[in-house]
Amino acid sequence: MKKNKFYITTTIPYANASPHIGFALEIIQADVLARWNKQKGKNVFFLTGTDEHGTKNYQTAKKEGLTTKKFVDKNSSMFKELTKSLNISNDYFIRTTDKKVHWPGVVEMWKILQAKGDIYKKEYTGNYCSGCERFITEKDLVEGKCPDHPTLKIESIAEENYFFKLSKYSSKIKKLIETDKLKIMPKKWKNNFLGLIKDGLTDVSFSRTKKHLPWGVPVPGDDSQVMYVWCDALTNYLTGIGYPDKKFKDFWPADVHVVGKDMLRFHTGIWPGMLLSAGLDLPKEVIVHGFLTVDGKKMSKSVGNVVSPLELRKKYEADSIRYALMRATPFGDDGDFSEDALVARHNDELANKLGNLVARVAGLIAQNGVNQTSNKLIKKLKVKEIGKFIENYEFDKALNLIFAFIDNCNEYVQNEKPWESKDGKVLFELKESILKIAELLWAFIPETSEKITKQFSAKEIKKGEILFKKIE
Ligand SMILES: [Zn+2]
Repeated sequence: MKKNKFYITTTIPYANASPHIGFALEIIQADVLARWNKQKGKNVFFLTGTDEHGTKNYQTAKKEGLTTKKFVDKNSSMFKELTKSLNISNDYFIRTTDKKVHWPGVVEMWKILQAKGDIYKKEYTGNYCSGCERFITEKDLVEGKCPDHPTLKIESIAEENYFFKLSKYSSKIKKLIETDKLKIMPKKWKNNFLGLIKDGLTDVSFSRTKKHLPWGVPVPGDDSQVMYVWCDALTNYLTGIGYPDKKFKDFWPADVHVVGKDMLRFHTGIWPGMLLSAGLDLPKEVIVHGFLTVDGKKMSKSVGNVVSPLELRKKYEADSIRYALMRATPFGDDGDFSEDALVARHNDELANKLGNLVARVAGLIAQNGVNQTSNKLIKKLKVKEIGKFIENYEFDKALNLIFAFIDNCNEYVQNEKPWESKDGKVLFELKESILKIAELLWAFIPETSEKITKQFSAKEIKKGEILFKKIE
């Protein structure tokens, strides 16, 4: 195993539509952790991607008059664009339709579980919408009806499918979670999941007939069946690092899977069950984030308040969006997003506090220079506590401490009046403090951090460009 490695993943969103702000939250959280660990000298591998199979993609593509491949290509490319536009440092982007990179590992996984005797055939009965021509999960039904075809009757259809013997691993999984060998954070989600499985896990349907699921990975050895989402999508965490080639062992097990609260039970139930069956190590930690409301309301297509991070990015810099999202949500809880709050934080915190400090001190150093001295100011910066908060996923609290220190620095300028005293020692303290602030902010607002570092580590510090222009 690679020494000192850190392997982190996001979930892979379903490529049926463009990304929404909730996934932006997830991928930025993962990016903060990836960058933080990189800064600590770890060998980081950061994986994200898209889940592209399933009947819904097949049907929507048909409706839009596209081949399914063209349709998922289009949607997947928007998620890829999101990683670029938000300055996400992912090392790879996995697509479940990738027959070279993804399929061989999925087929291998299936074969191993089958050889273990953990895959068997059984009748599956599900809620079927003849309008969608697909099975619909209980949670997607609205008052017992398909949300897209509320006038059609939901049928109960039975077919022969393959099942995975998850129940066999139930007590093992429970024990691993109870003892934190598979750690779920924050704690309240660990308790939530343990409550869900107190009566044990049940076997899960692992395939569909080709007739009902025409777009997916064929079951090895049975052309009439196609793999259902679990074996296909969850295995991306292995294929994204090379599985079944042995090189996947350089990074497996994952150090952190970042997941939304609705994805928790798949990542701490089905996925560990598959890994136990395959004789592979379990991920060390699954960390759970809540949902975002928008202006206090639940996001929904029918209300028309779904926020697209790609649209948002056309109006605001990546760092302003990243900052607002990391501030908006205490980890593990739901949070609220509003454009007004984003603008307020950009103006009050990024521009007024950080931007002003940097501009003022750079201007004063350009005029007066610095004199090396021992730095008393920087002692007010709670570096250890900040690190602890980040490692505990309390990003909002870490930012509170960093910005409290920015306040200390601004007060120091105000009190010491270096424009009168021309005191190079005071300016030296401020310069070193600003460099440390930039270092601590790199995980959160990398572009700004790099600009400040470049400006303040130059031989001759000059008054630079304004970091954040005020938004009216
Ligand atoms: Zn329907």
